[in-house]
Amino acid sequence: MIEKVQDNKGRGAWSIKWRLTVLYFVSAFGILLISTVILYWVLAKRLVKEDGQFLAAKIGLLREILKEEPNNQDVLREEIEWERAPFRLAKYYARILGPSGNIIIETGKMRSIAPVGIFPKPAGLSEIPSRATRRKSTNGHNLLLMTALAKAGGPNGGIRVLQLALDISHEDELIFDYRKQLVIVLLVGILLSAGIGIFIAGKGLKPVEKMTRTIQHISAHQLHRRLGQSDWPLELNDLAGAFDGMLDRLEDSFNRLSQFSADLAHELRTPINNLIGETEVTLSRERMPGEYREVLESSLEEYSRLSHVIESLLFLARAESPEANVEKKKFDPRKEIEDVIEFYEVMADDKGVKISFAQTSNPDSDFVLNADPTLFRHALSNLVSNALRYTSDGGKVDIGVSRSSTGRVDVWVEDNGIGIEHEHVARIFDRFYRVDSSRSENKSGSGLGLAIVKSIMQLHRGSVSVESEPGKGTKVTLSFPS
Ligand code: ADP
Repeated sequence: MIEKVQDNKGRGAWSIKWRLTVLYFVSAFGILLISTVILYWVLAKRLVKEDGQFLAAKIGLLREILKEEPNNQDVLREEIEWERAPFRLAKYYARILGPSGNIIIETGKMRSIAPVGIFPKPAGLSEIPSRATRRKSTNGHNLLLMTALAKAGGPNGGIRVLQLALDISHEDELIFDYRKQLVIVLLVGILLSAGIGIFIAGKGLKPVEKMTRTIQHISAHQLHRRLGQSDWPLELNDLAGAFDGMLDRLEDSFNRLSQFSADLAHELRTPINNLIGETEVTLSRERMPGEYREVLESSLEEYSRLSHVIESLLFLARAESPEANVEKKKFDPRKEIEDVIEFYEVMADDKGVKISFAQTSNPDSDFVLNADPTLFRHALSNLVSNALRYTSDGGKVDIGVSRSSTGRVDVWVEDNGIGIEHEHVARIFDRFYRVDSSRSENKSGSGLGLAIVKSIMQLHRGSVSVESEPGKGTKVTLSFPS
């Protein structure tokens, strides 16, 4: 039974093993068939050629004897009765006819095997027949016949007809046997090549099966397992490497997802527990209307925070969906930057932080950003709000824009606040990741701000980078492609 595997569209597909087996079998069988046919053909051709040459040589010899010693019956008889050497399979017959068709001399028993009438027309005096004629004798013998004219020398000279026959029945039997043996060799060859084909294909694909088995055992709980690159044949090494790379990424995503779920639960549980606790305490006895108002106001704060977290998560989910689209426009980012500065100026004043648009080296140059203005403002606001949050009284926040020779536009926000420890820098773009909430005076940060910035930059096929030194400040740069 031929194995078939189902591809993901439900269509049957030939397995590689069977493809290899069939290809191997067809080529091996083809080679075997061609070689046996050639061997057979060469042998058959060679026998026919040798027989023809033998008869032609005999004609030459008889012509010579008739010319030199036409009346020496002994020599003629000796030549005519000449038996082929024992290793020869064909039996030889010769006959000399006189001018009127009378038989002058012939090999014994020739008349019954090769009568005069079955011979072809004779070749001319100086000719040798180009090839022998094949005939079946009356008693079923396979014969090769040659007829030629000869000139007898001496006073009674005249034209003679030489009739030569070779009984090749034995040769034909040999060829028939040989053919049977070739068919047997061919059949055995077919079986062997099919068997060897299956064996070779199976052996060659063993590593693939091993790889499949190893992969089958990798579940969500064993994402740490790897195929490794040393044990596989050369062709599978790259595949194993690519698969391990995919597992690395999957494991990383999986860990982040687990962490994210845990963080999300924690993030929502704390405010909700606070709300429940506060409400229970309030309801434990009668309160004055003012007290109820106070509780409602503080609850509203929690509700706003929860709503902000949910809004941010929804934003991230939408940004990551494949259908997410950005409505890009070409605009000058300086106008948007000034609007954001204006918006945060009051907050900055309250904190005693100076916020300003840093002068660019080429203020007159054109800065054209190809981006979604709303998303750009969202990302920039997140960076400015972070910069203000992590910069203390007397500090400063600068916003700048620059353009590279390739047309890329960089927008950066730099502060001289508390900075970020080196080990946290790679993780601050993860959802809910906060370096240390106790560091910030304002603990309302949800750890989603930079994750949103990263999503926005991914939507624009741009990037975001951070340079930071603890105690000195932080610079976050948004790079938009041209
Ligand atoms: P959050 O809402 O907590 O600020 P973000 O995703 O915006 O969340 O930032 C993640 C973490 O990165 C913050 O908790 C903070 O520790 C650190 N961070 C971000 N921006 C700055 C900055 N300008 N200076 C110092 N630390 C920063």
